[in-house]
Amino acid sequence: MANITFIGLGNMGGPMAHNLIKAGHTVTVFDLSADAVKVLVDDGARTADTVHAAAEGAEVLITMLPAGEHVEAVYLGDEGLLNTLTSSTLVIDSSTIAPETARGVAEKATEKGIAFLDAPVSGGVGGAKAGTLTFICGGEDAAFEQARPVLEDMGKNIFHAGPHGAGQVAKICNNMLLAILMNGTCEALALGVKNGLDPAVLSEIMRQSSGGNWALNVYNPWPGVMEGVPASNDYQGGFLVDLMNKDLGLAFDNAVKNKAPIPMGSLARNLYALHGQQGNGRLDFSSIQRFYRGEE
Ligand code: NAD
Repeated sequence: MANITFIGLGNMGGPMAHNLIKAGHTVTVFDLSADAVKVLVDDGARTADTVHAAAEGAEVLITMLPAGEHVEAVYLGDEGLLNTLTSSTLVIDSSTIAPETARGVAEKATEKGIAFLDAPVSGGVGGAKAGTLTFICGGEDAAFEQARPVLEDMGKNIFHAGPHGAGQVAKICNNMLLAILMNGTCEALALGVKNGLDPAVLSEIMRQSSGGNWALNVYNPWPGVMEGVPASNDYQGGFLVDLMNKDLGLAFDNAVKNKAPIPMGSLARNLYALHGQQGNGRLDFSSIQRFYRGEE
């Protein structure tokens, strides 16, 4: 069992840290939100007043922060953790950020002899709670092998995509596809319902047919069709439209840099940008169903 510090205890980080405590690790947590910290302390975690104090003595340090700017603020600059960490700490960043931001932090860490892994996740809040996340890692082989047992306490599928930044590239490709398939699923459901079909019956037909996909299997966007998903809870919790917009922005920027055509991804990005602009940024991303129902 290891001394692990976990920073960023939001929708994802909170349950991930919980699973590390459950697995028997000594976990120290830090978040800007006192409420988020309290939940984990009640669970058995230690905490500290500053991020530096929380990271002291960590064998493994994990961050799960909203975006690249938060990751850079925590690690880089005069106040950054890379100034105080030593080579005895393995650093794992599981936030979804730009590959070049991950490479930039990895480069600074490597200069100080600190092993760094980008390890964004897939599987949503349900996967974080159940400990069944997919981790998509980028970095050196040795760091990956060292991280694997800890990641296995929070996830089921642990992939090594390639060198630093490769985890983030694979993750943004995946989320672009997720945005496209969620839009397609919502569009098909709305069309069927306009024709008088029951959304639950139509969902099951498509799930068992060639249109079957992840949204229909575990994240149905139509309210009341599936229990325990954001759609059946007024689209609260889950994966925020704001975060999906961030990820689609990362995919778009990356496509421009690589001169890659992404017509479907660009359309999905614009649909989510419009949806966010209508005041839905803090709702789960499956709430794009409302747009297709004409409820915006
Ligand atoms: P969230 O907004 O719920 O949580 C982020 C947490 O980070 C908050 O508790 C916030 O207080 C904390 N934080 C921000 N700046 C901080 C700082 N400087 N120091 C300490 N704590 C700080 O976000 P989330 O949904 O948990 O997502 C986290 C990351 O995981 C994002 O990059 C997101 O894209 C990715 N992700 C989310 C999901 C999902 O379903 N929610 C799925 C896969 C990946």
